[in-house]
Amino acid sequence: MIEKEKLLEVKGLDVFYGDLQAVKEVNMEVKKGEMVALIGANGVGKSTILQAIMGLNKPKSGSVIWKGQDITGIQTNKIARLGLTMTPEGSHIFEDMSVYENLLLGAYPKHAKARRAESLALVYKTFPVLKEKEKQTATFLSGGQRQMLAIARAMMANPELIICDEISLGLAPVIIKDIYASLHEINKNGVSFLLVEQETKRALKHSDYAYVIVHGEVVLEGRSSALSEEQIAQVYFGVEQSGEGGAD
Ligand code: ATP
Repeated sequence: MIEKEKLLEVKGLDVFYGDLQAVKEVNMEVKKGEMVALIGANGVGKSTILQAIMGLNKPKSGSVIWKGQDITGIQTNKIARLGLTMTPEGSHIFEDMSVYENLLLGAYPKHAKARRAESLALVYKTFPVLKEKEKQTATFLSGGQRQMLAIARAMMANPELIICDEISLGLAPVIIKDIYASLHEINKNGVSFLLVEQETKRALKHSDYAYVIVHGEVVLEGRSSALSEEQIAQVYFGVEQSGEGGAD
């Protein structure tokens, strides 16, 4: 069997906030074409891992490798030029700008600017509602439409991998379903995804491979089809219990 190309590799990542170790010895990877999930409850370190990948915080040790190149700690805008982009938790769209202007901002890497018209056509095909609302100020968008805009803006950077931090947070199930359907469509066009999700069932359903994080560590990983919700619940429960008992 031919090994798929490794796009992203995280090796032995440790991140601290002062004395608090938020991420411990995390190893993970995303191969070309894959949808990979990072599963974990509130405050276990998921966003911290993503921020370290995107150069938004400085790991104490470990490395982030993109297509064989060490990119640990390099500036976020330079990372985007390499084909790796992120939709942050809470979408972070520019409220006072139109949908169209928000989208254009996503196309800032040089290679993406050159393909702007093509990317815009693809974005509007994937999210027709954004075409309908392209002239409207983003502040009038619903929660689901904001997430769509955040994903669409990431697409405008012409990435090979999009990292999504909790895109389903606060959205109605029917909207979440639509958004995930769009992600699969984008994935079929060759874009890989690293998805952060708190909801185990949803994470397993929409990914090829999953990592489960508890207290900043990967405690379980595997093909999503081979993992079960029960197994993950047991891992959560086991770690919480040993934590309560004061074990190492
Ligand atoms: P959520 O699902 O709530 O976003 P998360 O899994 O993404 O949670 P992180 O936001 O990475 O978790 O936080 C991991 C730990 O680091 C938590 O204990 C959090 O309180 C702490 N933390 C996060 N950001 C900072 C910061 N800027 N300064 C200090 N501690 C922080």
